[in-house]
Amino acid sequence: MTTTRPDTKTTLDHLLTEIEHRNPAQPEFHQAAREVLETLAPVLAARPEYAEPGLVERLVEPERQVVFRVPWQDDRGRVHVNRGFRVEFNSALGPYKGGLRFHPSVNLGVIKFLGFEQIFKNALTGLGIGGGKGGSDFDPRGRSDAEVMRFCQSFMTELYRHIGEHTDVPAGDIGVGGREIGYLFGQYRRITNRWESGVLTGKGAGWGGSLIRPEATGYGNVLFAAAMLRERGEDLEGQTTVVSGSGNVAIYTIEKLTALGANPVTCSDSSGYVVDEKGIDVDLLKQVKEVERGRVGTYAERRGASARFVPGGSVWEVPADVALPSATQNELDAEGATALIRNGVKAVSEGANMPTTPDAVHLLQSAGVAFGPGKAANAGGVAVSALEMAQNHARTSWPATRVEDELAAIMTNIHTTCHDTATRYGAPGDYVTGANIAGFERVADAMLAQGVI
Ligand code: NDP
Repeated sequence: MTTTRPDTKTTLDHLLTEIEHRNPAQPEFHQAAREVLETLAPVLAARPEYAEPGLVERLVEPERQVVFRVPWQDDRGRVHVNRGFRVEFNSALGPYKGGLRFHPSVNLGVIKFLGFEQIFKNALTGLGIGGGKGGSDFDPRGRSDAEVMRFCQSFMTELYRHIGEHTDVPAGDIGVGGREIGYLFGQYRRITNRWESGVLTGKGAGWGGSLIRPEATGYGNVLFAAAMLRERGEDLEGQTTVVSGSGNVAIYTIEKLTALGANPVTCSDSSGYVVDEKGIDVDLLKQVKEVERGRVGTYAERRGASARFVPGGSVWEVPADVALPSATQNELDAEGATALIRNGVKAVSEGANMPTTPDAVHLLQSAGVAFGPGKAANAGGVAVSALEMAQNHARTSWPATRVEDELAAIMTNIHTTCHDTATRYGAPGDYVTGANIAGFERVADAMLAQGVI
């Protein structure tokens, strides 16, 4: 086992204090930085070249942060003013890559936490993509298609000057799906007079999108959970699973779990959760959430006797073998983790970004639960986005089977990398340490090679 020099830990503690001081009122960014930095001491001690003054300091400071006004008119002609963000965090491995989030909770700190996570996640895919993230405090919920279109057009009217297929390539995230990517792409094309399909990913399959991109994050997370279980001599077949959320990631998580013979019994949104003893019917869920843009309560009403809707409450109270949080950050807290452990959970795999609070992660790991951090477990989405970019550059499109095979190979590789790195640094079975160190090593090597920039 590698021992940690006390001065390495002291340096990291000092840096964390500095980060909190320099980035006030950004608790999510502090949390994400702390979670990574706390696991880096062994690698900094073992590889002195990484302790070079300035390397970690540069890594925690975004290369560029853009904040802009987004004015738009609703259907009654009233003007609204939202705030837009794009944080271009690190481009040592390739163009900045990361989604856009439209949700009222978005602020600069949230985008920075997501962008910071994205650096390591993208590095873990093994593909040539840097880390970035963006979004707005705009709430698309309850807005007409015309209002969403006007908002997206106004958002892109500023964003277009900062992005490009070789510069920065956004995609979707919470509140940004196929509809929003379509409006954003249309406005980019109109302003620039370029058919630059590689500027955004998550496009429609008929105009430059990759097959399997909508499915990739959820499918990938299920493959990661399966790999963690295999490591313990088990598989997903017959396992009862709880999934939170009912958006893009949750839906395709449920679809893949069902396909592999597991029984996903829950889904949720901010109004509450559904328990369906027969297993969630993914076609009905897609109809309610994707087509009608409704709430999960409607799913329960239509499904009949096997399903019930629980307003509010915690989905983690539902007994399960495997849990896949797939809604938003900090949704699985110590109380939720305690309930999962009490009910005998074996694995937790994060579909969402940072859905598990630090104390909940600690409880789960201490109880011997296999824990897959989002930057590894949900990397399938951005990986297939990078495959979409590759198809766009080659002006071709691959069959679904090819994309799915590549996704499966990438997820297996990420699992192996995290697992082996954790073992190498004296923390066997600790996927958090494995993911952080493996992602860090790849980015740090590129940054060292490219000089102080
Ligand atoms: P969607 O907008 O499609 O769905 C989000 C889901 O989470 C909805 O059910 C929503 O419920 C729920 N949710 C969002 N915010 C909250 C909140 N504050 N409280 C309770 N529920 C909430 O987003 P995605 O499925 O795309 O994203 C889900 C998570 O996965 C996010 O953390 C995202 O960053 C992460 N992720 C997504 C990727 C992708 O490819 N889309 C890639 C990697 C990670 P409601 O409608 O009531 O708000």
